[in-house]
Amino acid sequence: MLYAEVAVPVPVRSLYQTFHYGVPEALQGELKMFSRVEVPFSGRFIQGFVIGFGDPPAFKNIKNIKRMIEREPFLDTELYKTAQWMVQRYLCSLGDAIQTIAGSSVGSLKIEKRKKGLIPTVGNDFLIGLARAPKQKIALEVALRQPGLNKQELAKEANTSPAIINALIDKGLLKETELTGAEDDKYLGPKPNLTKEQAIAVTQISQALKEEKPSAWLLHGVTGSGKTEVYLRIIEEALGQNRQAIVLVPEISLTPQMVQRFKLRFGSQVALLHSALSQGERYAEKARLRNGEARVVLGARSAIFAPLPNPGVIIIDEEHESSYKQDESPKYHAREVALQRAAQHKAVVVLGSATPAIESYCRARPGGPYQLIRLTKRVDQRKMPVVHIVDLRKEFASGNKGIFSRLFIHALSERIEKNEKSIIFLNRRGYASVVVCHHCGQVIKCPHCDISLTLHKDGLLRCHYCGYGSRIPQKCPSCASSVIRNFGLGTQRVEEEIKKLFPSIKVLRMDADTTTRKGSHQKLLDQFIGGDAQVLVGTQMIAKGLDIPQVTLVGVVSADITLHMPDFRAAERTFQLLTQVAGRAGRGEIEGEVIIQTYDPEHYSILHAQQHDFIHFFQKEMATRRTLYYPPFSFIIRIMFSGVNEGDVLSAAQVWLERLSKTRQETDLSNIDILGPAPAGITRINDRYRWQLLLRGPVSRDLRKIVTLVLEQLGIRYKQVTVSIDVDPLTI
Ligand code: ADP
Ligand code: ZN
Ligand code: ZN
Repeated sequence: MLYAEVAVPVPVRSLYQTFHYGVPEALQGELKMFSRVEVPFSGRFIQGFVIGFGDPPAFKNIKNIKRMIEREPFLDTELYKTAQWMVQRYLCSLGDAIQTIAGSSVGSLKIEKRKKGLIPTVGNDFLIGLARAPKQKIALEVALRQPGLNKQELAKEANTSPAIINALIDKGLLKETELTGAEDDKYLGPKPNLTKEQAIAVTQISQALKEEKPSAWLLHGVTGSGKTEVYLRIIEEALGQNRQAIVLVPEISLTPQMVQRFKLRFGSQVALLHSALSQGERYAEKARLRNGEARVVLGARSAIFAPLPNPGVIIIDEEHESSYKQDESPKYHAREVALQRAAQHKAVVVLGSATPAIESYCRARPGGPYQLIRLTKRVDQRKMPVVHIVDLRKEFASGNKGIFSRLFIHALSERIEKNEKSIIFLNRRGYASVVVCHHCGQVIKCPHCDISLTLHKDGLLRCHYCGYGSRIPQKCPSCASSVIRNFGLGTQRVEEEIKKLFPSIKVLRMDADTTTRKGSHQKLLDQFIGGDAQVLVGTQMIAKGLDIPQVTLVGVVSADITLHMPDFRAAERTFQLLTQVAGRAGRGEIEGEVIIQTYDPEHYSILHAQQHDFIHFFQKEMATRRTLYYPPFSFIIRIMFSGVNEGDVLSAAQVWLERLSKTRQETDLSNIDILGPAPAGITRINDRYRWQLLLRGPVSRDLRKIVTLVLEQLGIRYKQVTVSIDVDPLTI
């Protein structure tokens, strides 16, 4: 009998624990290293991965593998090493790590036949000629960006009717052809001459690439300084050396312009990996990578595991974004995985941001592990926008009870008169958000999640965590008063106020509610860029990556929402958000202006964002963190206990607390603090209670050591309570 060693992605006792199964005759010679299989496990069947063959284990009663699911998942020896590294770095099980890297299986895949699609016969430069036919112009623009769609698809993507597409076909601007897969290659764009700062960055990083020195670069470039062009040139260099590239963006649906720029440069060599793809599509993209057809991967967090034979460069754009950290186990950070993979391949890592994470900037100081490159100027000497701060307390005191300050209304009406575009930013969705009792101050919360419910326009209160919905109660649940009203505001309300103030203009809104359908971001953007809408109202989605030259005014309705988050990173998040939002203004010829409204106008994160002064913000923030002994001056591990019975949850936390304290004593690591048990930031999600313990200390390895020792004694589950571990958590 042949035996296989299988790693399974379920809670197991020790992190490296694997299980032995017999290989049935039919599978002998079929199964390979890393094959995905189905195996019996505690009375059910689950997926697992073969990680070895060989000796029969010491015990009897060995069960057989039930079937092979996938012979060759996208895993190789190098990625297997990454999985092993993840186990000791994030204290997840080996099975979980492999599962995360390999992604979900696709079963048997049907190969699609070549389709017919519409291909433009002209280039981007032709678009100007369609200025008087805006609908056709938008449709052609979409076709240039996504050649190969059929008539219906294109009409849908361009938010228009098939008649408009027919008109383009009749004019000979679109042609229906059989698709070959190389359509993208016909529309490669021109390369601009690099600015001086860009050239220096490209030279330095290319040099490291040539010398095959694994290295990490922090590209700190102000918004609009042309970081993307630096990425493109370095990738070109890597491709020239017959290597491949990975480019991570925070969320691909939010960065259609980035995708377009990559396709214009690298055509069909670009593979996209993101969550909006179907499993089959993702599989097809990965297959293109493995067989060398595609060599540049553009994707969100999990694209860091792209199966590439020899990556030369890994780029992480907006490296400070929290979406690079996965919030379920394994709670990995793509930046760290990037560094680990790069070391294996002697590749370079480029971390780009206008507002680097405090931790990253810390590592880029002289003598640190990253090397710092600055882009201090915007391309074409464009100026940074002027930022005004409005004190909302004063507005209120002087009798203005509206959402907008007088300064903002004045600035907006000027823009409207001049036919320039404006963006209004609100870090929230929903109509008027939280409902409070004006008598006793009680906030109406979700009965399952302990989170404030949000009032939507249909009159329903909704929980943004679990989706629970209810009507506004007649009486306050706490004091029975009937003065329960909404408080705060949402994007819909902002949109309506603008329409009231300026009834004749067109306003667009972009938030989670208006962008549920695939491609809806792009559609809204097209409407805003190409259409006659003058104002775009939106949530954090509009803060990132948008490059719209016509935008000359950006308004921030309230900076306070982010500032008052209960987290030690609140100031950092506020600075990042304000800087990113402000970066959307004045990217064209006309100088931009930003107006930030707040009740806390003296806060350093707001003042430094006003000055576009990252470095002084960094210094001030570091001083605060040092005083309070927060990262990067300490490391934190969060251990979360969750279950339906609060008593069980608490006793699990208690048992862990005792074991941790005992282990701390035995290992002589007295410089580690153990905090808690405390209710987690959100105490209850989906009817599960959540309590947490925090470990804090000066050496990350020591923290992981203690937790590993206790894990080996207690396991990942304790009675009915799930224990989940977060190394370097982003929120607490
Ligand atoms: P960042 O990512 O740093 O905010 P972008 O990469 O979006 O900046 O670049 C800003 C704008 O400048 C884009 O429209 C881009 O096409 C343009 N750009 C970048 N580099 C150059 C260059 N060397 N010459 C001319 N235009 C450039
Ligand atoms: Zn809820
Ligand atoms: Zn009340």
